[in-house]
Amino acid sequence: MFKSLLKIFLGANNQNLVVSVDKPTFNDDDRQFMRRALELARQAADNNEVPVGAVLVKSGKIIGEGCNQSIIQSDPTAHAEIQALRNAGKNLNNYRLVDTTLYVSLEPCPMCVGSLIHARVSRVVFAASDLKTGACGSALNLIQDSSHNHRVIVEKGLMAEEASQLISSFFRRRRAEKRLERQDSTKN
Ligand SMILES: [Zn+2]
Repeated sequence: MFKSLLKIFLGANNQNLVVSVDKPTFNDDDRQFMRRALELARQAADNNEVPVGAVLVKSGKIIGEGCNQSIIQSDPTAHAEIQALRNAGKNLNNYRLVDTTLYVSLEPCPMCVGSLIHARVSRVVFAASDLKTGACGSALNLIQDSSHNHRVIVEKGLMAEEASQLISSFFRRRRAEKRLERQDSTKN
């Protein structure tokens, strides 16, 4: 109810209004798309990449998706959000991805926020906050900087616990593996 009122208000009155919804009401569609983003994050973890997944949705359909592949692709820009935007751009044959929602398991970084603004994504829903590099209100609030001429609705916290557990267990596993490697190297 609150969300629909908010959209009506935005559409009718003020395109320039900066909106951040900390306790939004998510619906079944939101949950379904975030579940897919989490599935993609697990795929990243299976490849020993930091587990982040993203899907881009337009008119209730996924038009692009991706997971973090920076190591596999030797590409520092291959974050889940960028992969999803590239995938969607190819699918729509358009570099502008208007009227879309990005669902991502971790708060986007400054690079991804820049790309989301270039793409004209309308709404970003993220699961876990990233206190170190999150650019949607945690480390900085680049996505809602008044210097942009495009405004993005930001909603956070959907399935946050699941997403942060995925990331913390990934780093726990990686630390344990590194410990083992060190032990092995001292033995040899
Ligand atoms: Zn990023």
